[in-house]
Amino acid sequence: MRRSCYCGEVTAEKVGEAVTLMGWVHRRRDHGGLIFVDLRDREGIVQVVFDPEHGVEAYETARRLRSEYVIAIRGEVRRRPPGTENVDLKTGEVEVPAVEALILNEARTPVFPLDDDRPVSEELRLTYRYLDLRRSSLQENLRIRHRGYQVVRAFCDRHGFIEVETPALTRSTPEGARDYLVPSRLYAGQFFALPQSPQLFKQLLMVAGFDRYFQIVKCFRDEDLRADRQPEFTQIDVEMSFVDREDVLGLMEELIAAIFREVKGVELHRPFPRLPYVEAMAIYGLDNPDVRFEMFLVEISDVCQETAFRPFAEALARGGQVKGIKVKGKAEAFSRKVIDDLTEFVKGFGAKGLAPFRMTKEGPQSPVAKFLDPATLEGITRRFDLKDGDLALVIGDSPMVVAEALGRLRVKLGYELGLIDEALIRPVWVTDFPLLEYSEEEKRYVAVHHPFTAPLDEDLSLFEGSPEKMRAKAYDLVINGQEVGGGSIRNHNREIQQKMFDALGFSSDQARQRFGFLLDALEFGTPPHGGIAFGFDRLIMLLTGAESIREVIAFPKTQRAQCLMTGAPTVVDTVQLKELRLKLDGS
Ligand code: ASP
Repeated sequence: MRRSCYCGEVTAEKVGEAVTLMGWVHRRRDHGGLIFVDLRDREGIVQVVFDPEHGVEAYETARRLRSEYVIAIRGEVRRRPPGTENVDLKTGEVEVPAVEALILNEARTPVFPLDDDRPVSEELRLTYRYLDLRRSSLQENLRIRHRGYQVVRAFCDRHGFIEVETPALTRSTPEGARDYLVPSRLYAGQFFALPQSPQLFKQLLMVAGFDRYFQIVKCFRDEDLRADRQPEFTQIDVEMSFVDREDVLGLMEELIAAIFREVKGVELHRPFPRLPYVEAMAIYGLDNPDVRFEMFLVEISDVCQETAFRPFAEALARGGQVKGIKVKGKAEAFSRKVIDDLTEFVKGFGAKGLAPFRMTKEGPQSPVAKFLDPATLEGITRRFDLKDGDLALVIGDSPMVVAEALGRLRVKLGYELGLIDEALIRPVWVTDFPLLEYSEEEKRYVAVHHPFTAPLDEDLSLFEGSPEKMRAKAYDLVINGQEVGGGSIRNHNREIQQKMFDALGFSSDQARQRFGFLLDALEFGTPPHGGIAFGFDRLIMLLTGAESIREVIAFPKTQRAQCLMTGAPTVVDTVQLKELRLKLDGS
């Protein structure tokens, strides 16, 4: 038998046609005398009827069928009897009475039901991923992912980008996350690293004159485990020559718009808003702001200048801030217990407390009111424009703690109070990130983005004296509060790159040793250039609405960075270790 079409393609247009179908027994119902089989392949499900009147042998075969058997059938498509149509199915108006049936392969009883509506433990799903992948939601997600690749490739090709593969075995350049290392057999004691990103290679492609590069590329980061991270993930990696920031952002928002249009049928409004980092932090408290709703952070430090309320006064004396957010007209939903829970929540981000101010018909009420003079209380009420039923939630602390605690509280309340229209897609570019931040752990400055990002021209003089105040030509794309990409204009000037290495505390020997090839290249005619990388998996999550990154990757690792299906990572043979001249501690 040779297959004539997919099961999912057997629609009413095919009535009267002879078809040969191959697929999996999704469900089998024995009606005594008649057997119905829902036959499934990647395009969908069609009902096959086994009736001894039509084919005795086929009927006898059907009696032996079990879930997930792989079969082939032949028959002529006919309309289902009136009243038995299934409107939920593309093929729901028709059925195929089998005149011939063949079992191509038997199957063990699946370890979990493959209908999507029944919850199954993730451990089981990942152990038998090939069964899990038969389920329609994963089939759908991977097909959306496939569309995503195609749109990116077509767009980049149309806009003159050249796809180049960069090496997966490369040199370890510890900066940012931890590398995955690969021991070299030929050079005992030496190691390759898997790339955390193709950053330096794509810059060198600009030195080489390719002008526009892209790659859909696997990157590897051996980071501490976090809920929705994968040790290997996919980026859309891009680099462009002779560009400034607006060239990159302008074209890349067209790419993102093309993806949403062609994969999801959603038109994104352009240009995407640009929000400098400082403003994002001031208004949203986070550098990945969710701009689908307001509830902006309001500063009241000036109003609280004279306050005797210790937590505010102490925060201000130490150069901190007092800020808050307003919940409009929902104060009654915030009982003591709710406020206590929210206080615990903000404590998780380092805040010492959360002061509520409620507006009632009798005026403002707050457990801290007794510590405030009337003018301050009046000032707070006015600054938040508190009306009857409104609630302000206020924190006094260091600027970073205030920002993060209120920023996270804002998002939590946004979801919980239904202020976010989850159907919206709201991208925003966050720009002008700080260039450096001080790492207490390493006792030196580290790059906020990476060491190759250029400073803003007007901040160059700050290398001497106040490097922490410098801003970078770096940008992130944030969609609905999720960072989906980031990039920068790079240092194409040798001296500025050297200054950056100096600021990071690398001796010239260290810089030479790690990045000598880049420093050399910068002396051989490097064009101005910049680029970006988007987290492809995260984009697909937005396109599919998947709640976990593991729902958009065919064979993901667990949250504990293991592959339950293959059992990786595993111990290896001592012979393999010997060849690599490696000895395990304690072996
Ligand atoms: N290589 C950077 C990253 O992976 C992106 C870029 O700067 O283009 O985050």
